[in-house]
Amino acid sequence: MLVIHPDECIDCGVCEPECPVEAIVPDTDAKAQAFAEINSEFSKQWPKISEKKSAPADADQWEDVPNKFPEHFSPKPGNLIVS
Ligand code: SF4
Repeated sequence: MLVIHPDECIDCGVCEPECPVEAIVPDTDAKAQAFAEINSEFSKQWPKISEKKSAPADADQWEDVPNKFPEHFSPKPGNLIVS
């Protein structure tokens, strides 16, 4: 999981169509409201991603997993809790 810093996002919308699993939605979208606070909180705590990287090796495995948040969420950056 990554988060977008709400104060640094200029709402250009470029990222939205680029996300292959449609995980990025405008903050005006009702399903984004629950994540607004999470984005704000963890964008201040987690390291910034400043270089393009390949998708994680297990990205496809996680694509259709329901309820990834909060069931698999860890507040530690880069960690994943697998139950
Ligand atoms: S690409 Fe996405 S995160 Fe970056 S400024 Fe545009 S809307 Fe915000």
